[in-house]
Amino acid sequence: NNMDEGLLFLNPVWEIESINKSAVKFFGKEKQELLGTSFFMLDDSDEIRQLLQKIEQEGKGRLVINRGSSYYQLNGSRSTDKGFVLLIMDVTARTASEKIRREFSANVSHELKTPLTSISGYSELIETGMATEADVHHFATEIHKNSNRLLTLINDIIRLSELDVSEDTPAMEKVDLAVIARTATDMLAINAEKNNVTLSYSGSHEYIYANKMMMEELVYNLTDNAIRYNNKNGSVDVSVNSDGDKVTLRVKDTGIGIPAEHQERIFERFYRVDKSRSKSTGGTGLGLAIVKHIVARNNAHLDMVSEPGRGTDISVTFDKYRGDGE
Ligand code: ADP
Repeated sequence: NNMDEGLLFLNPVWEIESINKSAVKFFGKEKQELLGTSFFMLDDSDEIRQLLQKIEQEGKGRLVINRGSSYYQLNGSRSTDKGFVLLIMDVTARTASEKIRREFSANVSHELKTPLTSISGYSELIETGMATEADVHHFATEIHKNSNRLLTLINDIIRLSELDVSEDTPAMEKVDLAVIARTATDMLAINAEKNNVTLSYSGSHEYIYANKMMMEELVYNLTDNAIRYNNKNGSVDVSVNSDGDKVTLRVKDTGIGIPAEHQERIFERFYRVDKSRSKSTGGTGLGLAIVKHIVARNNAHLDMVSEPGRGTDISVTFDKYRGDGE
């Protein structure tokens, strides 16, 4: 009765002999109503009929069915006393992550193909002698640009896969978030200057318990976006502050902002509000998906306030470091 899975024992004519709590819940009826009832009476869909037939003929069978917004896997087999055993598992989360993974693979292939097609096309023109002296320089520039793009994409894809695959807790240590934020802003100072954006850092030394490399990536990705999606003469303020037992990293920009309908989706892989702006500024569409992972892995919380034309304000809140290994 304490199993998450639904479990049923059925007699040779498919009448329910015994049923646990989770299976009762699955049918949404009273236990007394279900006992003695034929499984066909409860569900006479073709898919269920085929499953039961298969179990009868082959000794076992399985099926994934969709009910409302949930997915269930039914595993059935013949039991030794000539009856049947049926196990019902909620596989909604697994089905959703399989779907995301399938879409991700399709997107990855597409994203990698675009720069590779350019590289192949331009180099072929040079190889066959179709390019004039003047063209060669331009084509080489394109080949260089597209290979850099490929490298950036591959790096981000590898990073996401690493974050996806590893279920271990990352190596955590006492980290001064102010030092990390300062280093990231220093690294991005030239980018900001190139984009005519004023980048400033303010804050106090605040300690958290986190993975250091992930913190560097977090600040870098958020600040890099704040610069890339900014306007000429705009500004980006990065700050680290504490309030009670919480430490907050804040990246605030006066950039183009994000329309409300896109705000939730920008954390999805390859989701971009304006694809050409993202691409022309070296974006891969994966930065915020990486940020989302990092926030979850480090027990942090992300808040975003954004208004088109006014800017975006992203805060990531952590628990303050409390002592040895906490
Ligand atoms: P990208 O590599 O395209 O920047 P991200 O995952 O980092 O990918 O961000 C996804 C999308 O969210 C971006 O393409 C952009 O449309 C939007 N975005 C992210 N940060 C900002 C920001 N600070 N201001 C405005 N739009 C942003």
